[in-house]
Amino acid sequence: MLKYKRILLKLSGEALAGDKEFGYSDEVLNSFARQIKQIHEAGAELAIVIGGGNIMRGKFAEEAGMDRSTGDTMGMLATVMNALALQNTIEKIGGVPTRVLTAINMPQVAEPYIRRRAIRHLEKGRVVIFAAGVGNPYFTTDSGGALRSIEINADILAKGTNVDGVYDKDPNKFDDAVKYEKVSFTEALTKNLKIMDATALSLCRENNMPIIVFNALEDGNMLRFVKGENIGTLVSND
Ligand code: UDP
Repeated sequence: MLKYKRILLKLSGEALAGDKEFGYSDEVLNSFARQIKQIHEAGAELAIVIGGGNIMRGKFAEEAGMDRSTGDTMGMLATVMNALALQNTIEKIGGVPTRVLTAINMPQVAEPYIRRRAIRHLEKGRVVIFAAGVGNPYFTTDSGGALRSIEINADILAKGTNVDGVYDKDPNKFDDAVKYEKVSFTEALTKNLKIMDATALSLCRENNMPIIVFNALEDGNMLRFVKGENIGTLVSND
């Protein structure tokens, strides 16, 4: 039995680079693709929002002297590249039908984002990859993940990162950092815990969309949380 039937999985673009500063790690792409296949085979309906930080972020462009809106648009285009890379890796492994839906229209490359179409794909057992965030500058793909999870009526928004949950302070810097098993949205927002940006968190709080934060780089973890194993940190209104 699966604890979560319909899942919105937010994968960071930055993670795709692995040990490198830029671009793609074959190992990470393959690990994500294998885990996605495991969830799919277990019978979950899976939609993915992928970030773009391994290629471009609006704030990098701004630091280089470009205007923010242009940089953000470049960041959104980076997420489309990542969506195609992930789709390609999943297809190479085989057995999982995928569709890329983009919030910035580019019909030669991917389907446009249409909510009902996305839901139909999920019902038909296709893994949907959402690209281009929310389609507007000044947002992040975390906000894209929050928005899409609510739109498709997901049971949970799963944020796959490179840490195993939410801590009271940075576990890479402080030995005495304590991990939360559970935390409320209000506490996360007031303590400014590093989960997602405030826009994404508020959207989830207002629409009662629970978030699980877990280490997606550990093979098998995606299936573990879908089955209800106690990994990571659960963020909710409780
Ligand atoms: N971005 C945007 N609007 C969105 C989603 C993303 O403008 O709805 C831009 C923004 O510049 C962001 C970049 O795309 O920094 C890449 O996305 P993100 O930083 O969320 O990627 P991740 O942190 O997951 O690698």
